[in-house]
Amino acid sequence: MSDFHGVSVLVSGGTRGIGRAIVTAFAQGGARVTFTGRDARAAEETCAGSGAPDRCRFVAGDVSTAEAAEAAVAAAVEHGGGLDVLVNNAGITRDTLLLRMSQEDWDRVLAVNLTGAWQLTRAAARRLMKSRRGRIVNITSVVGLMGNAGQANYAASKAGLIGLTRSVARELAGRGVTANAVAPGFIQTDMTAGLPPGAADELQGRIPLGRLGTPEDVAAVVAFLAGETAGYITGQVIPVDGGMVM
Ligand code: NDP
Repeated sequence: MSDFHGVSVLVSGGTRGIGRAIVTAFAQGGARVTFTGRDARAAEETCAGSGAPDRCRFVAGDVSTAEAAEAAVAAAVEHGGGLDVLVNNAGITRDTLLLRMSQEDWDRVLAVNLTGAWQLTRAAARRLMKSRRGRIVNITSVVGLMGNAGQANYAASKAGLIGLTRSVARELAGRGVTANAVAPGFIQTDMTAGLPPGAADELQGRIPLGRLGTPEDVAAVVAFLAGETAGYITGQVIPVDGGMVM
Protein backbone atom coordinates (compact mmCIF):
# COMPACT_ATOMS: atom_id res chain seq x y z
CA MET A 1 0.00 0.00 0.00
CA SER A 2 1.30 3.45 -0.95
CA ASP A 3 2.00 6.05 1.70
CA PHE A 4 -0.70 8.71 1.44
CA HIS A 5 0.51 11.02 4.23
CA GLY A 6 0.21 14.61 3.01
CA VAL A 7 -2.16 13.59 0.21
CA SER A 8 -5.64 15.12 -0.15
CA VAL A 9 -8.33 12.81 -1.56
CA LEU A 10 -11.93 13.49 -2.60
CA VAL A 11 -14.29 10.50 -2.95
CA SER A 12 -17.88 10.79 -4.18
CA GLY A 13 -20.41 8.47 -2.54
CA GLY A 14 -18.38 7.44 0.51
CA THR A 15 -21.28 6.73 2.86
CA ARG A 16 -21.65 3.03 1.98
CA GLY A 17 -20.30 0.08 0.04
CA ILE A 18 -17.32 0.49 -2.25
CA GLY A 19 -16.97 4.23 -1.52
CA ARG A 20 -16.74 3.56 2.22
CA ALA A 21 -13.96 0.99 1.62
CA ILE A 22 -12.12 3.51 -0.58
CA VAL A 23 -12.36 6.21 2.12
CA THR A 24 -11.03 3.72 4.67
CA ALA A 25 -8.12 2.58 2.48
CA PHE A 26 -6.93 6.15 1.93
CA ALA A 27 -7.47 7.21 5.56
CA GLN A 28 -5.50 4.20 6.79
CA GLY A 29 -2.74 5.08 4.34
CA GLY A 30 -2.44 8.51 5.98
CA ALA A 31 -4.44 10.67 3.53
CA ARG A 32 -6.80 13.45 4.45
CA VAL A 33 -10.06 12.27 2.89
CA THR A 34 -13.15 14.28 2.02
CA PHE A 35 -16.17 12.34 0.85
CA THR A 36 -19.68 13.09 -0.39
CA GLY A 37 -23.10 11.47 -0.19
CA ARG A 38 -26.51 12.38 1.19
CA ASP A 39 -26.88 10.23 4.30
CA ALA A 40 -25.22 12.06 7.22
CA ARG A 41 -25.73 9.22 9.69
CA ALA A 42 -24.08 6.68 7.37
CA ALA A 43 -21.27 9.19 6.82
CA GLU A 44 -20.57 9.22 10.57
CA GLU A 45 -20.24 5.43 10.45
CA THR A 46 -17.80 5.70 7.55
CA CYS A 47 -15.58 8.09 9.53
CA ALA A 48 -15.84 6.09 12.75
CA GLY A 49 -14.95 2.85 10.97
CA SER A 50 -12.11 4.30 8.91
CA GLY A 51 -9.62 4.01 11.76
CA ALA A 52 -8.71 7.69 11.31
CA PRO A 53 -11.85 9.78 11.92
CA ASP A 54 -9.81 12.95 12.37
CA ARG A 55 -8.60 12.66 8.77
CA CYS A 56 -12.15 12.14 7.36
CA ARG A 57 -14.55 14.88 6.39
CA PHE A 58 -18.08 14.50 5.03
CA VAL A 59 -19.71 17.03 2.76
CA ALA A 60 -23.39 16.45 1.99
CA GLY A 61 -24.70 16.99 -1.52
CA ASP A 62 -26.22 15.52 -4.66
CA VAL A 63 -23.30 14.69 -6.92
CA SER A 64 -25.21 15.55 -10.08
CA THR A 65 -25.24 19.31 -9.45
CA ALA A 66 -22.52 21.84 -10.24
CA GLU A 67 -23.03 23.56 -6.85
CA ALA A 68 -22.41 20.33 -4.94
CA ALA A 69 -19.31 19.62 -7.01
CA GLU A 70 -17.85 23.08 -6.32
CA ALA A 71 -18.67 22.74 -2.60
CA ALA A 72 -17.06 19.28 -2.41
CA VAL A 73 -13.86 20.45 -4.07
CA ALA A 74 -13.70 23.55 -1.83
CA ALA A 75 -14.17 21.35 1.26
CA ALA A 76 -11.45 18.94 0.12
CA VAL A 77 -9.01 21.78 -0.55
CA GLU A 78 -9.71 23.25 2.87
CA HIS A 79 -9.48 19.89 4.68
CA GLY A 80 -6.49 18.54 2.78
CA GLY A 81 -4.59 21.73 1.95
CA GLY A 82 -5.07 21.18 -1.80
CA LEU A 83 -6.35 18.30 -3.91
CA ASP A 84 -4.31 15.40 -5.27
CA VAL A 85 -6.74 12.53 -5.90
CA LEU A 86 -10.35 12.48 -7.13
CA VAL A 87 -12.33 9.23 -7.03
CA ASN A 88 -15.69 9.36 -8.84
CA ASN A 89 -17.52 6.51 -7.15
CA ALA A 90 -21.13 7.64 -6.50
CA GLY A 91 -23.57 5.64 -8.58
CA ILE A 92 -27.12 4.32 -8.72
CA THR A 93 -29.14 1.77 -10.66
CA ARG A 94 -32.73 1.98 -11.92
CA ASP A 95 -32.97 -1.39 -13.65
CA THR A 96 -35.76 -2.32 -16.01
CA LEU A 97 -36.17 -3.59 -19.54
CA LEU A 98 -35.86 -1.08 -22.36
CA LEU A 99 -39.57 -1.01 -23.23
CA ARG A 100 -40.48 -0.26 -19.62
CA MET A 101 -37.73 2.29 -18.95
CA SER A 102 -39.09 5.75 -18.22
CA GLN A 103 -37.46 9.02 -19.17
CA GLU A 104 -36.93 9.61 -15.44
CA ASP A 105 -35.13 6.23 -15.05
CA TRP A 106 -32.82 7.16 -17.91
CA ASP A 107 -32.20 10.78 -16.90
CA ARG A 108 -31.53 10.13 -13.22
CA VAL A 109 -28.98 7.33 -13.79
CA LEU A 110 -27.13 9.38 -16.41
CA ALA A 111 -27.26 12.46 -14.14
CA VAL A 112 -25.72 10.72 -11.11
CA ASN A 113 -23.32 8.26 -12.75
CA LEU A 114 -22.01 10.28 -15.69
CA THR A 115 -22.88 13.97 -15.30
CA GLY A 116 -21.92 13.75 -11.62
CA ALA A 117 -18.45 12.47 -12.51
CA TRP A 118 -18.04 15.14 -15.16
CA GLN A 119 -19.14 17.89 -12.73
CA LEU A 120 -16.61 16.84 -10.11
CA THR A 121 -13.83 16.33 -12.65
CA ARG A 122 -14.41 19.78 -14.09
CA ALA A 123 -14.54 21.38 -10.65
CA ALA A 124 -11.37 19.55 -9.51
CA ALA A 125 -9.23 19.80 -12.67
CA ARG A 126 -7.34 23.01 -11.87
CA ARG A 127 -6.51 21.83 -8.37
CA LEU A 128 -5.34 18.43 -9.66
CA MET A 129 -3.12 20.15 -12.22
CA LYS A 130 -1.47 22.09 -9.39
CA SER A 131 -0.70 18.85 -7.55
CA ARG A 132 2.65 17.13 -7.95
CA ARG A 133 0.75 13.86 -8.41
CA GLY A 134 -2.75 14.50 -9.69
CA ARG A 135 -4.85 11.35 -10.04
CA ILE A 136 -8.41 10.64 -11.17
CA VAL A 137 -9.96 7.20 -10.65
CA ASN A 138 -13.48 6.60 -11.97
CA ILE A 139 -15.56 3.65 -10.83
CA THR A 140 -17.21 2.25 -13.93
CA SER A 141 -18.51 -1.35 -14.27
CA VAL A 142 -17.94 -4.47 -16.34
CA VAL A 143 -21.47 -3.74 -17.56
CA GLY A 144 -20.04 -0.66 -19.31
CA LEU A 145 -17.83 -3.04 -21.30
CA MET A 146 -20.30 -5.90 -21.89
CA GLY A 147 -23.79 -4.35 -21.72
CA ASN A 148 -26.52 -6.03 -19.69
CA ALA A 149 -30.19 -6.72 -20.37
CA GLY A 150 -32.29 -4.55 -18.09
CA GLN A 151 -29.54 -1.98 -17.56
CA ALA A 152 -29.52 0.16 -20.73
CA ASN A 153 -29.35 3.36 -18.67
CA TYR A 154 -26.69 2.07 -16.25
CA ALA A 155 -24.54 0.43 -18.95
CA ALA A 156 -24.67 3.60 -21.08
CA SER A 157 -23.63 5.73 -18.10
CA LYS A 158 -20.72 3.41 -17.29
CA ALA A 159 -19.59 3.18 -20.94
CA GLY A 160 -19.79 6.97 -21.06
CA LEU A 161 -17.61 7.14 -17.98
CA ILE A 162 -14.94 5.16 -19.83
CA GLY A 163 -15.04 7.70 -22.68
CA LEU A 164 -14.82 10.53 -20.15
CA THR A 165 -11.86 8.84 -18.44
CA ARG A 166 -9.91 8.43 -21.68
CA SER A 167 -10.63 11.97 -22.91
CA VAL A 168 -9.60 13.48 -19.58
CA ALA A 169 -6.49 11.25 -19.56
CA ARG A 170 -5.47 12.71 -22.91
CA GLU A 171 -6.32 16.31 -21.94
CA LEU A 172 -4.54 16.33 -18.60
CA ALA A 173 -1.54 14.08 -19.35
CA GLY A 174 0.61 17.09 -20.21
CA ARG A 175 -0.02 18.43 -16.70
CA GLY A 176 1.04 15.18 -15.06
CA VAL A 177 -2.48 14.12 -14.10
CA THR A 178 -3.46 10.48 -14.74
CA ALA A 179 -7.06 9.30 -15.24
CA ASN A 180 -8.03 5.65 -15.06
CA ALA A 181 -11.17 3.62 -14.51
CA VAL A 182 -11.80 0.59 -12.32
CA ALA A 183 -14.53 -1.76 -13.56
CA PRO A 184 -15.92 -3.90 -10.73
CA GLY A 185 -17.84 -7.08 -11.50
CA PHE A 186 -20.35 -8.23 -8.86
CA ILE A 187 -19.41 -6.78 -5.50
CA GLN A 188 -21.26 -7.44 -2.23
CA THR A 189 -22.90 -4.09 -1.37
CA ASP A 190 -26.39 -2.62 -0.97
CA MET A 191 -26.47 -2.26 -4.76
CA THR A 192 -26.35 -6.04 -5.30
CA ALA A 193 -28.18 -7.04 -2.08
CA GLY A 194 -31.52 -6.81 -3.89
CA LEU A 195 -30.74 -9.57 -6.39
CA PRO A 196 -33.55 -12.15 -6.56
CA PRO A 197 -33.02 -15.44 -4.67
CA GLY A 198 -30.80 -17.78 -6.66
CA ALA A 199 -29.40 -14.99 -8.84
CA ALA A 200 -26.29 -14.60 -6.66
CA ASP A 201 -25.58 -18.35 -6.96
CA GLU A 202 -26.09 -18.19 -10.70
CA LEU A 203 -23.72 -15.21 -10.93
CA GLN A 204 -21.13 -16.91 -8.80
CA GLY A 205 -21.11 -19.77 -11.28
CA ARG A 206 -20.08 -17.32 -14.02
CA ILE A 207 -17.11 -15.96 -12.04
CA PRO A 208 -13.90 -17.96 -12.61
CA LEU A 209 -12.60 -17.14 -9.10
CA GLY A 210 -15.87 -18.54 -7.71
CA ARG A 211 -16.98 -15.73 -5.40
CA LEU A 212 -18.52 -12.28 -5.45
CA GLY A 213 -16.06 -9.45 -4.84
CA THR A 214 -15.75 -7.32 -1.71
CA PRO A 215 -15.58 -3.52 -1.52
CA GLU A 216 -12.00 -3.96 -0.26
CA ASP A 217 -11.07 -5.83 -3.49
CA VAL A 218 -12.02 -2.69 -5.41
CA ALA A 219 -10.52 -0.20 -2.94
CA ALA A 220 -7.11 -1.88 -3.17
CA VAL A 221 -6.94 -1.28 -6.93
CA VAL A 222 -8.14 2.31 -6.55
CA ALA A 223 -5.39 2.92 -3.99
CA PHE A 224 -2.80 1.38 -6.32
CA LEU A 225 -3.86 3.62 -9.24
CA ALA A 226 -3.78 6.67 -6.96
CA GLY A 227 -0.39 5.77 -5.56
CA GLU A 228 3.07 7.07 -6.35
CA THR A 229 4.10 3.93 -8.24
CA ALA A 230 1.23 4.04 -10.78
CA GLY A 231 2.34 7.33 -12.35
CA TYR A 232 2.94 5.79 -15.80
CA ILE A 233 -0.56 4.31 -16.16
CA THR A 234 -3.26 6.48 -17.72
CA GLY A 235 -6.44 6.05 -19.79
CA GLN A 236 -6.84 2.41 -18.70
CA VAL A 237 -9.80 0.39 -17.52
CA ILE A 238 -8.92 -2.23 -14.91
CA PRO A 239 -11.60 -4.90 -14.31
CA VAL A 240 -11.89 -6.17 -10.72
CA ASP A 241 -14.29 -8.99 -11.41
CA GLY A 242 -12.84 -12.37 -10.47
CA GLY A 243 -12.11 -13.03 -14.15
CA MET A 244 -15.65 -12.54 -15.52
CA VAL A 245 -14.49 -10.39 -18.43
CA MET A 246 -11.41 -11.70 -20.20
P1 NDP B 1 -24.05 1.57 -2.92
O1 NDP B 1 -25.45 1.68 -3.39
O2 NDP B 1 -23.72 0.67 -1.81
O3 NDP B 1 -23.49 3.04 -2.58
C1 NDP B 1 -23.66 4.10 -3.48
C2 NDP B 1 -23.00 5.35 -2.95
O4 NDP B 1 -23.25 6.41 -3.88
C3 NDP B 1 -23.53 5.77 -1.60
O5 NDP B 1 -22.48 6.26 -0.80
C4 NDP B 1 -24.50 6.89 -1.97
O6 NDP B 1 -24.58 7.85 -0.94
C5 NDP B 1 -23.83 7.51 -3.17
N1 NDP B 1 -24.78 8.23 -4.01
C6 NDP B 1 -25.81 7.71 -4.72
N2 NDP B 1 -26.48 8.70 -5.33
C7 NDP B 1 -25.86 9.86 -4.99
C8 NDP B 1 -26.08 11.22 -5.30
N3 NDP B 1 -27.06 11.62 -6.11
N4 NDP B 1 -25.25 12.16 -4.79
C9 NDP B 1 -24.24 11.78 -3.97
N5 NDP B 1 -23.97 10.51 -3.63
C10 NDP B 1 -24.78 9.56 -4.14
O7 NDP B 1 -23.22 1.21 -4.25
P2 NDP B 1 -21.85 0.43 -4.44
O8 NDP B 1 -20.92 0.72 -3.33
O9 NDP B 1 -22.15 -0.95 -4.78
O10 NDP B 1 -21.34 1.13 -5.79
C11 NDP B 1 -20.33 2.13 -5.81
C12 NDP B 1 -19.93 2.36 -7.26
O11 NDP B 1 -19.47 1.13 -7.81
C13 NDP B 1 -21.09 2.81 -8.15
O12 NDP B 1 -20.64 3.75 -9.10
C14 NDP B 1 -21.51 1.53 -8.83
O13 NDP B 1 -22.14 1.77 -10.06
C15 NDP B 1 -20.17 0.84 -9.00
N6 NDP B 1 -20.26 -0.59 -9.20
C16 NDP B 1 -20.80 -1.41 -8.23
C17 NDP B 1 -20.88 -2.77 -8.42
C18 NDP B 1 -21.43 -3.72 -7.43
O14 NDP B 1 -21.54 -4.93 -7.76
N7 NDP B 1 -21.79 -3.30 -6.23
C19 NDP B 1 -20.42 -3.36 -9.70
C20 NDP B 1 -19.88 -2.42 -10.63
C21 NDP B 1 -19.81 -1.09 -10.36
P3 NDP B 1 -25.96 8.33 -0.24
O15 NDP B 1 -26.87 7.17 -0.19
O16 NDP B 1 -25.50 8.83 1.09
O17 NDP B 1 -26.43 9.44 -1.13
